[in-house]
Amino acid sequence: MGVGVAYYGGRVLSNVAIVAVFWTSNVAVDLQQQVGSFYTAIASSSYIDWLEEYDTLGLTGVGGKLGSDQHIGRGKLTGAFTITPSTSATTLDDGDIASELAAQIAAGSLPAPTLDSAGNVNTVYMVEIPPGYTVTLLGGMSCTDFCAYHSTVSVGGKSVPYAVLPDSQSCVRAVCGQGFDDETILRSHELAEAITDTESGLVSAADIAAGKDVYPMAWAGDGGTKGEIGDLCFQGFVGDHDEVAGYEVQKLWSTFAGACVVGVPICVAGVTPPACRPCTAYDNGAACSAPTTVCEEATGTCRACEGLECSAMTDAGSGADAGLHGVSDADAGAGATDAGPGETRVRAGCGVTGAGAAGVDAWLLVTALGWTWRRRRRGRLLS
Ligand SMILES: [Zn+2]
Repeated sequence: MGVGVAYYGGRVLSNVAIVAVFWTSNVAVDLQQQVGSFYTAIASSSYIDWLEEYDTLGLTGVGGKLGSDQHIGRGKLTGAFTITPSTSATTLDDGDIASELAAQIAAGSLPAPTLDSAGNVNTVYMVEIPPGYTVTLLGGMSCTDFCAYHSTVSVGGKSVPYAVLPDSQSCVRAVCGQGFDDETILRSHELAEAITDTESGLVSAADIAAGKDVYPMAWAGDGGTKGEIGDLCFQGFVGDHDEVAGYEVQKLWSTFAGACVVGVPICVAGVTPPACRPCTAYDNGAACSAPTTVCEEATGTCRACEGLECSAMTDAGSGADAGLHGVSDADAGAGATDAGPGETRVRAGCGVTGAGAAGVDAWLLVTALGWTWRRRRRGRLLS
């Protein structure tokens, strides 16, 4: 299945620093208690390692845009913070959330974004919305038109990514999933897209729809109209996820593997690309973990350290690679036929998903700024 993605010249997140934001203390208890542990586990897992295929090192974006020259590696949880917003409204537009985030950062109630060595933002704010709230985005409504989204707000001249996670358990008919596993699937999707398409929220929806210059978009399919690496693989929680580091995460499009995956393992003897990927020096101590912590770049495989390398490997063996999964295209046939405009799309208890024949309609539910607008323009909002 699937179509590829292209690079449009924008930033990615080098080493993600996740700030979980609880919009008041009324956020669902399971999320308040567990989402931090989930982010800690996933940010330093094999789910992130293979995303180096979306590095922008030395790349030029479509149309000749100067790229951001970044490597994507493992990250961490900065912390979880409960905010007291300036508004008590329970219907929140994306603009309200973005300005509240900026204000909370300015007031020191949320940690300021951290930067990589070149000054690019590393921090993403994952905003949890309590049950009983409705979030609107370009006229679309949570539960009805989207389950979650990620976007970008400019703070102090920096592009700061954030994701908005309305309480999916309170959506009627479980249209946005049911249970903590589906919540982690949604969050992994948005996290991965914030990492690989950090500044997409700065691109005008009209420009995306019109096929105009979409800089500073980073990695997306067809100028954003075909979605990002998570959208290309979302199937409404059916056959579109796997376990990494003890949590269910959504599969993401790998151009390298030509498939939806939760990881691409490092090659070992007898296994060849695209079923595996050659390691790079960036994998030392991470994807190449104990007892083989060093990437032998000539062969693209991990080996044990030798001599001085060993004392230089301060992080040897700490990599949480236990969950490394193989390439899988198990959801290739899982996409239902597009039900078409005006028809109810119901699949396997998930309510309103409509994965097209190639799976590319799956981005309807989990949307970024541009896609919802495009759906409205075409008069095909889901109901
Ligand atoms: Zn998405």
